[in-house]
Amino acid sequence: MLACGDLPYYYLEYVVSLLDAPLFYVHGNHDQVIGRAMAGFPSEGSTISWGTNLHLRPVEHRGLLLGGLEGCRRYSPDRPFQYTETEMRWQATQLGLKLWANRLRHGRFIDILVTHAPPRGIHDDEDVPHQGFESYLSFMRSHRPRLLIHGHQHVYNRNAATMETQFEDTLVVNTYGYRVIELEQDKGGWQVISTRAA
Ligand SMILES: [Zn+2]
Repeated sequence: MLACGDLPYYYLEYVVSLLDAPLFYVHGNHDQVIGRAMAGFPSEGSTISWGTNLHLRPVEHRGLLLGGLEGCRRYSPDRPFQYTETEMRWQATQLGLKLWANRLRHGRFIDILVTHAPPRGIHDDEDVPHQGFESYLSFMRSHRPRLLIHGHQHVYNRNAATMETQFEDTLVVNTYGYRVIELEQDKGGWQVISTRAA
């Protein structure tokens, strides 16, 4: 199970126990801080004991290559899980460097990038807190994830909103509420078979 942030921990714990599946997550700007997390610094130390924080961390699960980038655009100077574009660009670069081990071993960098905020210009808005990150666009161009799934953007009318956008090799999915994503492994990695709100 993947979680894109801003979901209460008791809810995540409930779903994890219901599905009996491991949890991989990134933090959202409304998340409560666990342990050590400071404004402007990545939250690798902010970890739920019953889940895996994907922020800046490549993880392989059953042949699926995962990694994440937490938080949204900075709109409050002293809150964690918020970053300027420059801070995020640096973090995306760091994650990209760590993904070279995958590239050498598997021939690809990453299958699913889990983020809280959307990429700039895709499912985002014009107010600063809801502007997406430019650096996610360059990350998708250079590292070619099959999927980028994000949260953060509320959808009030699901019929009118665009929930999925193809960008280069990456299907960008807004997970507002929840989505069930079906994947199939083939020689080149993974193919997305279906996504549905269920
Ligand atoms: Zn958010």
